[in-house]
Amino acid sequence: MDFELGSQREMLRQTVRAFAEREVAPRAAAADEAERLPPENFAGLAKLGLMGMALPEDLGGSGLDMLSCTLVVEELARACASTALSLGVHTVLASHFIHRNADDAQRRRFLPAMATGEKIGAWALTEPGAGSDALSLSTRAARDGRAYLLNGRKMFITNGSIADVVVVFAKTKPELGPKGISTFVLERGMPGFAAQPPFKKMGCRASPTCELVLENVRVPEENRLGAEGDGLRQLMEGLNYERTVLSGYPLGVAQAAFECALKYAKERQQFGKPIGQFQLIQEMLADMHTELLAARLMVYRAAAELDAGRLTNTTAAAAKLFAAGMGVRVAMNAVQVLGGYGYMREFPAERYLRDAKLAEIGAGTSQIMKLVIGRELMQ
Ligand SMILES: Cc1cc2nc3c(=O)[nH]c(=O)nc-3n(C[C@H](O)[C@H](O)[C@H](O)COP(=O)(O)OP(=O)(O)OC[C@H]3O[C@@H](n4cnc5c(N)ncnc54)[C@H](O)[C@@H]3O)c2cc1C
Repeated sequence: MDFELGSQREMLRQTVRAFAEREVAPRAAAADEAERLPPENFAGLAKLGLMGMALPEDLGGSGLDMLSCTLVVEELARACASTALSLGVHTVLASHFIHRNADDAQRRRFLPAMATGEKIGAWALTEPGAGSDALSLSTRAARDGRAYLLNGRKMFITNGSIADVVVVFAKTKPELGPKGISTFVLERGMPGFAAQPPFKKMGCRASPTCELVLENVRVPEENRLGAEGDGLRQLMEGLNYERTVLSGYPLGVAQAAFECALKYAKERQQFGKPIGQFQLIQEMLADMHTELLAARLMVYRAAAELDAGRLTNTTAAAAKLFAAGMGVRVAMNAVQVLGGYGYMREFPAERYLRDAKLAEIGAGTSQIMKLVIGRELMQ
């Protein structure tokens, strides 16, 4: 076993960490308050080549593997969870998904502008009536000559209001159930395609989350990814990418929460000494450190297996389940270590807790992760 990330990945981590500490972290609290992603964050990431981090160089990307992309998401989440989520969705869920499932003409059409960040991507599976039970989606794509008419609604879509290119799953043959799902690329400005204003959220507030409305949207055949009925395979694979790479998100949020608690425990004095001298505080810090270590190993291993083409649903689900729960537990402990100040918005601990919670819900809830693992164990 090799536990080294390698010098290139370490260098990447250092570069992203320096950028995130210098440019992203100082804006994070205000972005959360304003519920708006600072445009400078994506502009800076574009300069670093990270808006196209997962795309190959001949399409203008940086050609990073998924383990490296996980590190980027982690380092950004340590500074600003919203920026990490929106970047992860744009790069891995949207543009890399298109790259994996498109033909050459579609790749050349959609991806160079996504690689530079000129165009932003989103990925739309969830519907108002189909969340955990995503395969029961009811968005319909009806054939209309050499095009399709799409009708339906997509719920809680990250980047919905800022996206130019949206991957949408719809049923071309509803009578086939999940096997009748096909995938389409919708573009901003298509008549009948609109984003509702972003939701007001508990956490990750600067990353826009919207409902998308599709009313008789005419989508040319050339915007279908793969064959009709290929959507099920594509989306299941997409979920494994999301569960793995976006597990960098709870790693980064938890790391920030841990560092904040450790620093505070060394500085805050009660009963004549730093509170970090009390063993009950040390217990919390030791638990945080240990869980972070374990989650990081699980997530990096899942990412390495994804890169090696042998990731199983169980490994992805277990990494996601543990990392997401760890994020909430670590952030909760951080609030506790900070005491009353942990509860105040002038300190970042409460934001870390609000941000961490999302990882237990998005990309399949923790209950659904347990069902995925349980089902495979029983097979
Ligand atoms: C901020 C945010 C961003 C998101 N971004 C995107 C995005 O970009 N694209 C996208 O497609 N989706 C996105 N989602 C949607 C997300 O994937 C869903 O919210 C999630 O899958 C849960 O679906 P639901 O909200 O409908 O909850 P429900 O499915 O209604 O679940 C409600 C509760 O019931 C539980 N439950 C459901 N079924 C079972 C069962 N069989 N056994 C036990 N418990 C069960 C769940 O665990 C949960 O606790 C986002 C969500 C959020 C909050």
